[in-house]
Amino acid sequence: MSSTKEKNRRTLFCPSCNSPNMIVISKARYMIMMTVLPVIVSAVIAVMFHPVFLLFIPGLIWMNKMIADRKAPLIICRECQAHSQGNPAANRAHDTNG
Ligand SMILES: [Zn+2]
Repeated sequence: MSSTKEKNRRTLFCPSCNSPNMIVISKARYMIMMTVLPVIVSAVIAVMFHPVFLLFIPGLIWMNKMIADRKAPLIICRECQAHSQGNPAANRAHDTNG
């Protein structure tokens, strides 16, 4: 049986160009995207220079988790690359710039 229940997804439209070609990036995916490259770079640096650079990796992951918590889910338009946030209501009123 291959009759999967299709969830009635709301079609998203770009606020800028009204294109339905929107990509939704979930929190996990956003985090992976943001984390993989710096982790690889840190690992390469650690191999080349000193293993102490491996200590940056947990920090990077933690930092990207914090960023992902704020920004994800992220919605990107394929047509005009306009970014919009999935849940603007979740924005905190006060920004803590660190
Ligand atoms: Zn657009």
